[in-house]
Amino acid sequence: MTNSRPIHTVCPHCKRPVVALREQQRARCAEHGIVVPMRSVVANAPVAPPLRQPEPVA
Ligand SMILES: [Zn+2]
Repeated sequence: MTNSRPIHTVCPHCKRPVVALREQQRARCAEHGIVVPMRSVVANAPVAPPLRQPEPVA
């Protein structure tokens, strides 16, 4: 049995993947703002951009 869930840099609060710069100890979570990221499996899908508009129906 193999663990196929990759480890990502995630927000410690919501476990959503965040983008952390290589030499920074902080990352930005869409929901929690600036956080100290942790390495873990992703437990939640990324938050959609808040101002994203629905796709127009052709
Ligand atoms: Zn978060």
